[in-house]
Amino acid sequence: MNNRLYGNLIFELSHAGRRGFSLPANEFGTHDMPEWAQRQTAAALPECDEMTVVRHYTNHSQNNFGVNNGFYPLGSCTMKYNPVINEEMTALPLMQNLHPAQAEDTCQGVLSMMYGLQHKLSALTGLSAFTLNPFAGAHGELTGLMLIRAYHHEKGQDQRVKVIVPDSAHGTNPASAAVCGLEVVEVKSTADGMVDVDDLRALLDDKVAAVMMTNPNTLGLFERQIPEIARLVHASGALLYYDGANLNPMLGVCRPGDMGFDVMHINLHKTFSTPHGGGGPGSGPVGVIAAMEHLLPSTVVKDGDKYTMRRNHGQDGQTPISVGANAGNVGVMIRAYTYILSLGRENIKMVGPLATLNANYIKEALKDDYLLPIDTVCKHEFVFDGLKDKSTGVTTMDVAKRLLDYGYHAPTIYFPLLFHESLMIEPTENESKQTIDAFIATMHRIAEEARTEPDTVKSAPHNTPIGRVDDVLAAKHPVLTYRQMTAEEA
Ligand SMILES: *Cc1c(COP(=O)(O)O)cnc(C)c1O
Repeated sequence: MNNRLYGNLIFELSHAGRRGFSLPANEFGTHDMPEWAQRQTAAALPECDEMTVVRHYTNHSQNNFGVNNGFYPLGSCTMKYNPVINEEMTALPLMQNLHPAQAEDTCQGVLSMMYGLQHKLSALTGLSAFTLNPFAGAHGELTGLMLIRAYHHEKGQDQRVKVIVPDSAHGTNPASAAVCGLEVVEVKSTADGMVDVDDLRALLDDKVAAVMMTNPNTLGLFERQIPEIARLVHASGALLYYDGANLNPMLGVCRPGDMGFDVMHINLHKTFSTPHGGGGPGSGPVGVIAAMEHLLPSTVVKDGDKYTMRRNHGQDGQTPISVGANAGNVGVMIRAYTYILSLGRENIKMVGPLATLNANYIKEALKDDYLLPIDTVCKHEFVFDGLKDKSTGVTTMDVAKRLLDYGYHAPTIYFPLLFHESLMIEPTENESKQTIDAFIATMHRIAEEARTEPDTVKSAPHNTPIGRVDDVLAAKHPVLTYRQMTAEEA
């Protein structure tokens, strides 16, 4: 593919005087701009013909990698198939042209969709009510923690300012607690990757507002001690929070509400499909037990046969919890609702078992070449600690880069922080056996290359438009505007 010419920076394709547009004659007369507002030198904008611009951007778009290009086993992110019907539903003119401020009687359809989604989420999780307001998983966590603070406040328990978070937790958990003004306390994991119940017991006192848990946890393991943990947490007067960013392995199998969780968020953009690379778009609905329903910032309710958005203005002088303007990220909700409805009550029960089967199949097939620190049955994802044979000097980073050469997106690497060479793989439920077998063969091949030609792996990728970047330099000294490369750099 001749990407060189059109893949260049658009400034380098510029030719003085080239135009890709023509504007109609000005019918509105001229207005003199005050001297002070006029620029002194012409803006240095690229000047290109239309085809050059179209090819430039089209080629750039093809340098991207998404789930629709190939297998994307990014652990903790649940990159799954995004059915075209989701996009069709979201693109319906009636959905696209909605305005957040439009009168409720003109958007009963979308309100009924939101109402239906709230109910489906309740049915799938066993929690009493949901708000769809938060715009991401982390935003849901913050909302959930604000609700927990408000709940304790109502009970006169303002001294509860600590949040207990497992050392394996997603980084957003402690971050959300800190943003909420709460103090983060870490609870250890046992050698087999579970929350250490004895450590937890010792940490629980009347200063603790909540314990945040992820189940299956970040190692992809089902936390077996939840009934006991729930009992301990509730006995201490705290609440139990469930990070349901990746609820897929649990769908139709078991429900956080039944396990004793009081508050949770779900990432609609992971669990129920939505393209979400690069940080968006997202939606992180928050569900609560009945005793907390009145605190939710907004919910769609049904009054007779009319749907309406109920906003919480705060009872009895209490500060209402406000987490975002308008209804939330409706496009993501439509995709999630479509995903749930197109699977239906029966098929949604297959999501969890299939995701679990796929992950275990890969784990077992590769554990001869890759180090499996916790060798038990996993749920939707699992973590290797790099290659088993460390003598070659080939790291997890090298394996990840080499996978790009073979047309795979890399798994999540160097997370969780419990191991030095973490390589976290999540295949999702809708990958075929053929795809998974081809990935396994490639991973074996890379392990073989590490033994026989380690330099090939260490210098990968070789086939991508951009080679190995210096990500530390890029983070510390980002170049965010165009400048001509010097002869040395070029
Ligand atoms: C992705 C993820 C989050 C954060 O979700 P965002 O939408 O990225 O803010 C929180 N917890 C877990 C376990 C996750 O995988």
